[in-house]
Amino acid sequence: MKKKAYRLLLVGGAVCLLALWSASSLEARQLQVVTTFSILQDFVQQVGGREVAVHALVPLGADPHTWEPSPREAGLVAKADLLVANGAAFDDWLLPVMRSAAGPHVSLILASEGLSLLEAHTHHGHTHAHDPHLWLSVPNAVAYVERITQALQELSPDRADYFAENAARYIQELWALDGRLAAELAEIPPENRIIVTYHNAFSYLAERYGFEVVEFLVHNPEAEPNPRDLGRLVELVKQLEKPAVFTEPQLNSGTRYIQALAQEAGAQVFTLYSDSLSEAVPTYVEMMEYNLQVLLEALQ
Ligand SMILES: [Zn+2]
Repeated sequence: MKKKAYRLLLVGGAVCLLALWSASSLEARQLQVVTTFSILQDFVQQVGGREVAVHALVPLGADPHTWEPSPREAGLVAKADLLVANGAAFDDWLLPVMRSAAGPHVSLILASEGLSLLEAHTHHGHTHAHDPHLWLSVPNAVAYVERITQALQELSPDRADYFAENAARYIQELWALDGRLAAELAEIPPENRIIVTYHNAFSYLAERYGFEVVEFLVHNPEAEPNPRDLGRLVELVKQLEKPAVFTEPQLNSGTRYIQALAQEAGAQVFTLYSDSLSEAVPTYVEMMEYNLQVLLEALQ
């Protein structure tokens, strides 16, 4: 009995030492964070600064709804200290991949958790799933950043103050962005406040900044639009005083349909960013500034 207790103590001590060792080595090195897509990567980078190395699974310019991971991504996840996904069914299919490749004690946070979801529009009597693109409303982006900050602080308490300072500075920048969006988009006449897009991505932006969204019938870019819905949108766009439709750079087949719609309706095609950063817009703030200028040019 005595011997057993002693051995247990020894094992317990070793586990404690191991825990201490791994905690201290974590504090001594850059934290490895893996996010599902580039916009979350930017949020983590803004808060984590020099103390984090962040990778996104879905590469720049790819469509996060349909992208498939490869062994390279499993390798990144295996080395991660923290995993960040959007949630709200946006990147659900990546969660099992992340959970199975991650270390046993690595937490996976959903940046949109706790935020209220907007129901999608109703077509022909049935309502589709909600829109998962919460980040396109800046107050939601602030909530994402707060959640990410909390997760980084829990992971590395030694660096909590550093993360808090970065987050405060960045959140201030986000509120300034929100103010600019609200003030400048208010200049668009009410009759032009319609955004016609390929997939249902802009309902949070629309709600925050006073637009009426008419999404282009596919909730998920994997789906093909049906001709009746296309016809309905042609009629709607024709009636606009300044006919404009919007495509998104990551959607190849969607762009084809948007161009066909524009041609039928005599509308001009503009590009809005929704699901991915790019070389041209490498940060969330730049992406939203870009979208602001496009909306003004298209609709004012
Ligand atoms: Zn999307």
